[in-house]
Amino acid sequence: MPDVRVKVVRLDHSPSQTREFTWLIGRYGTVIAPLKLGTAVLVKMDDTKWHVVRRWVIDWDDLEVVPVKKRPKRIGHRLGITGTGRQAVQHAVQRETMRGLCGKYVKPLPFCGWGLTFSPTAAQACAVCVRLSRDASGRGAA
Ligand SMILES: [Zn+2]
Repeated sequence: MPDVRVKVVRLDHSPSQTREFTWLIGRYGTVIAPLKLGTAVLVKMDDTKWHVVRRWVIDWDDLEVVPVKKRPKRIGHRLGITGTGRQAVQHAVQRETMRGLCGKYVKPLPFCGWGLTFSPTAAQACAVCVRLSRDASGRGAA
């Protein structure tokens, strides 16, 4: 069973042992097991503040399924440059290396270090790095 994210919206249909704990309403958790022929589920709450009980039996009717956002695939290339000033060219650099995807040795921006991410749409972006970074991200060249 893939992780199903839920928000507790009410406790009207849940077992009385659960219903007492109204602070559960509005909180989020993950369904870890179906119970009672599927009408209720065991939910592991996100909060760890309440160390005593973290798993609750909650009726499906009291839950709202939270859509899981798929994270955009990160290209994960840092920004490195060759040249200086107006002649500076921006290259896509793989982590833990000092070479652009095009093979050129690059350096980080002096004032930002390796903290910046390569942007294929930048005017000074290296054309080879742009193409290779697109290939690496699985989108293919347009
Ligand atoms: Zn390059």
